[in-house]
Amino acid sequence: MAILLNKPVNPNLKILMGYLEKVNERGWYTSFGPLHQELSSRLEDYLGVENLLLVSNATLGLQVAYKALGIKKAICTPFSFAATASSLSWEKKLYKFVDIDQNSLNLSVSLVEENLQKSSDIDGIVATHVYGNPCDLDGFKNLSSKYNIKIVYDGAHAFGVKYNNNSLCKYGDASILSFNATKVFNTLEGGAIVFKNRSDFRKARKLINFSIDGGPPTGTGINAKLDEYRSAVGLTMLERIEEILEKRQVLFSHYVQLLESYFDLPIWNKKTSFKNGAYFPIILENHKERVKIAAALMQAGIPSKEYFSPSLNLVYKKEDKCPVSESVASRILCLPLHYYLTTDDVEFIANKLIGQFTR
Ligand SMILES: *Cc1c(COP(=O)(O)O)cnc(C)c1O
Repeated sequence: MAILLNKPVNPNLKILMGYLEKVNERGWYTSFGPLHQELSSRLEDYLGVENLLLVSNATLGLQVAYKALGIKKAICTPFSFAATASSLSWEKKLYKFVDIDQNSLNLSVSLVEENLQKSSDIDGIVATHVYGNPCDLDGFKNLSSKYNIKIVYDGAHAFGVKYNNNSLCKYGDASILSFNATKVFNTLEGGAIVFKNRSDFRKARKLINFSIDGGPPTGTGINAKLDEYRSAVGLTMLERIEEILEKRQVLFSHYVQLLESYFDLPIWNKKTSFKNGAYFPIILENHKERVKIAAALMQAGIPSKEYFSPSLNLVYKKEDKCPVSESVASRILCLPLHYYLTTDDVEFIANKLIGQFTR
């Protein structure tokens, strides 16, 4: 079978239909219905978190989180998927891109602090746990209390990841999960915001429903609710999530074992107690090498992706210089990794890569 870069897990249609039939019987299709409620509490249990608000996608989740937390000017990581920065830009809250740490590829705490010392306007930090690798949580927590700023973690890659045996979503003022079909756990389109404080959760729950909570609207809101059919997909998927994460972990570890002596890999946070195997990136010598290797892989029927490229400062704010992120973005390459991939596929891919590397 052809090797695919990614392939979402197909929801079990029999289980799904059971849920959908009940939705039809009730005729309650959206606006905080029973399945929305059930998925919220099952996810809270599974992840070991509180104040989890389901939303229609992670991008709106980010935007709603900025509003609920009252963020006006935020520092953003340049090394992430476009939505991390685009959500800030759309809300006119994008203050500055600050460079990443060259080992973890996550936003650098020390460089953020340099900026906080220079400007008192900054009231938020938006950092991605890129590839599911936890940011320097202690470092950002210190900055948050020292400078009185809010921390938003884009955890779109981080479903199920544990840090010190706790859910990664427990950290920061808000963590955003994406349940897009391409992600580890999905509802086709969807996402969630996990808030630290109940009061922020309540604010956001109203914001995603046109600023309506019972009576007339009390301000500017948006519609970012997750409907009952998509909640049903989530409930169907959740039944298999342990197996899905287990499989991804096996493939991820197999890649590491075969490739770590040949390629630079992002360095994982030492306090990670559970990895989710969301992506497998390798860091090549330079851009030319990436072009060559990606072409050679393609020749062998192996797709790969320049995830994440370009560095987001080059798209949204060219005047911000982020040399580490720009360099990594020009030479990183993600290899196939999904539930339907086999360890034989991983060996085939690794052999092709090693063949290229040693030539
Ligand atoms: C996928 C992704 C998003 C966007 O998620 P949607 O649910 O598709 O809006 C945001 N940030 C990162 C890092 C992502 O990978």
